[in-house]
Amino acid sequence: MATVGKVIKCRAAVAWEANAPMVIEEIEVAPPQENEIRIKVIATGVCHTDLYHLFEGKNKEGFPAVLGHEGAGVVESVGPGVTEFKPGDKVIPLFLSQCRECKFCKCPKTNLCEQSWSSDRYAQMSDTTTRFSCRGQPILQFMGTSTFSEYTVLNQIAVVKVHDDAPLDRVCLLGCGISTGYGAAINTAKVEPGSVCAVFGLGAVGLAAVMGCKNAGASRIIAVDINEQKSEKAKVFGATEFVNPKAHKKPISEVLAEMTNGGVDFSLECVGNVTVMRSALESCIKGWGVSVLVGWTDVQDFSARPIQLISGKTWRGSLFGGFKSKDSVPKLVLDYMAGRIMLDEFVTHNMSLDQVNDAVQLMKTGSCIRSIINVSK
Ligand code: NAD
Ligand code: ZN
Repeated sequence: MATVGKVIKCRAAVAWEANAPMVIEEIEVAPPQENEIRIKVIATGVCHTDLYHLFEGKNKEGFPAVLGHEGAGVVESVGPGVTEFKPGDKVIPLFLSQCRECKFCKCPKTNLCEQSWSSDRYAQMSDTTTRFSCRGQPILQFMGTSTFSEYTVLNQIAVVKVHDDAPLDRVCLLGCGISTGYGAAINTAKVEPGSVCAVFGLGAVGLAAVMGCKNAGASRIIAVDINEQKSEKAKVFGATEFVNPKAHKKPISEVLAEMTNGGVDFSLECVGNVTVMRSALESCIKGWGVSVLVGWTDVQDFSARPIQLISGKTWRGSLFGGFKSKDSVPKLVLDYMAGRIMLDEFVTHNMSLDQVNDAVQLMKTGSCIRSIINVSK
């Protein structure tokens, strides 16, 4: 416990500016303040939302920052007022917090938390009350988490303890992508047994949505991606068919309507592209079809013809799969440990922190599902 109460110097990948590679730097991580805990990050996934911030988002205020929000680690020390955690606990950071006190946390209809970083720094995707600095300059914390660092400091509402035997280099994926896609199918779309589903975009988020449709008992799951190589992987998670929109002259919604006698019961957009969002809505059957936006984008407006909704379709969105984070993530860890959900099958690459830009490149080129960065031993 030589580090308790002291500044820790450690390695982190610093995103100094947008559209540039991250740089491995020695940063200083201040001790946790009231209601905060400091953790040693063991492993982290790389999610498309990290790439979105680095390359696609419009707002360039959220830099310099340490990215990463799909991690798992071990508690190093706790600040004043923290009773729920002790050094050595295995934990998962939660980009969507659960304070249990705000009106959203108290409402069973939503998983939003008013105390989350996102309630006032949504566009910047960063937290200004940072514990990081590098060469005397403050470094922002991304999504309240920042897992591309050997140590990070989290508010206790944005972290949860998980089972002592949980393998951190796998359950880290439950900190974002897998919970997001899986929950979008089971909680937000509420996929029904025997239904016909379509999932657009087969990254980890989309594949987890496929897994959710399967576990909910869907009879047909049509996986849609412009990358032909995703087809085999989708079948591992339960897809019954694969369609590449580029292989057809007709719009994908017409292709799906023909395949399903009028449209799918449930569609999930897991790309983050407003054109695909529209296609996913148009692919649903009139009368009762439900389409869920899971992909993340805040750059462009979307559009659709009103008749799409007037004719009885429902368009919904989903953040973190609709899961109340503190309540649900430990249960999802147990689901994985009991074999009820897959995690290992999402992992295509294992890397060190030095290779973080390689992991970004793999995702940019569609050559990975999830790369796991082993941040610390
Ligand atoms: P990814 O880059 O690994 O996967 C995206 C997939 O979409 C790729 O397979 C790509 O080939 C495919 N794709 C691209 N254009 C397409 C098109 N026109 N039609 C069909 N498929 C297309 O990304 P990921 O990590 O799985 O994340 C997916 C999305 O989910 C991102 O937008 C990410 O920011 C978002 N996300 C949202 C939440 C949330 O809480 N709502 C959480 C995590 C991630
Ligand atoms: Zn994510």
